[in-house]
Amino acid sequence: MRSTEPSRIDLHAHSTASDGTLTPAGLVERAAARGIEVLALTDHDTTAGIAEARRAAVGHGITLVPAIELSTATGGKPLHVVGLGIDPGASSLHLAIVRLRDLRAERASKIAHKLARLGIADAYEGACAEAGSAVPGRAHFARWLLARGLCADNGEVFDRLLGRGKPAYVATCWPELEDTVACIRAAGGVAVLAHPLRYKFTVSWLRRIVARFKEAGGSAMEVVIAHQQSRDTAVAADVARRGGLMGSVGSDFHSPGPHAPELGAFGALPVDIEPVWHALPAGSVLAGGAAA
Ligand code: AMP
Ligand code: MN
Ligand code: MN
Ligand code: MN
Repeated sequence: MRSTEPSRIDLHAHSTASDGTLTPAGLVERAAARGIEVLALTDHDTTAGIAEARRAAVGHGITLVPAIELSTATGGKPLHVVGLGIDPGASSLHLAIVRLRDLRAERASKIAHKLARLGIADAYEGACAEAGSAVPGRAHFARWLLARGLCADNGEVFDRLLGRGKPAYVATCWPELEDTVACIRAAGGVAVLAHPLRYKFTVSWLRRIVARFKEAGGSAMEVVIAHQQSRDTAVAADVARRGGLMGSVGSDFHSPGPHAPELGAFGALPVDIEPVWHALPAGSVLAGGAAA
């Protein structure tokens, strides 16, 4: 595949059901316009957008993979795990989502409290307004801070205030990795370690996490993501290969914009890595199965 051609498979994207800015139907419409044939909706800790996305996908003739991006942790370090091909009505998932919604709601008010102590008032109300019907997450706080001109760009918001260890960061006791993987599997899904190089772990620590993830029943990791340097793709591919994981691909699309990751805008999975879509339940697999 030439790098200028979008991938036909994108297995990581957000809508207004979490911290994306397009509605589920709007996201599907954009994916179809970009020639995407298989799209996974992976909202943070919610399946609320899946029904609308599915209806839109039927209208556009694209395959919607029902999915979720779950907040989890191992060894006290937060991680994201994507569940692909889940049954959104599964009871295991419902219980996890209710717990995560409570954790997120509690965290949002603590973030606002920290911001208030830093002299930034009304952040809770601001983030809620940005979030609409979603539970406010850090991206909603970031958008509100940007709209008020309190930071120059999204990177600065996280570097100065909301990123791990920064003054308005709130550590959260997310569910353990093993429980998260079990929950995805109980919902009929395939567990995928999301954006493995974004956590800034050492490669040896990442390999240890991959071993734990695989032992727990994890199947794949994201090897190719948007805005990833090719040397990082090579590192991710090596970790996946040696850890016995399949590979996934995705943009982690949140919002249209000149500097933001775009749907399908990433390269092909290295040919010796088994594509995770080969393991997805029938109906969410593209005939012929190639992302290139
Ligand atoms: P949360 O799930 O509420 O902790 O927020 C995580 C989300 O915040 C990610 O999915 C991104 O949407 C956004 N985010 C996290 N870190 C950064 C960063 N350094 N720069 C820009 N956005 C970020
Ligand atoms: Mn996000
Ligand atoms: Mn993530
Ligand atoms: Mn994501």
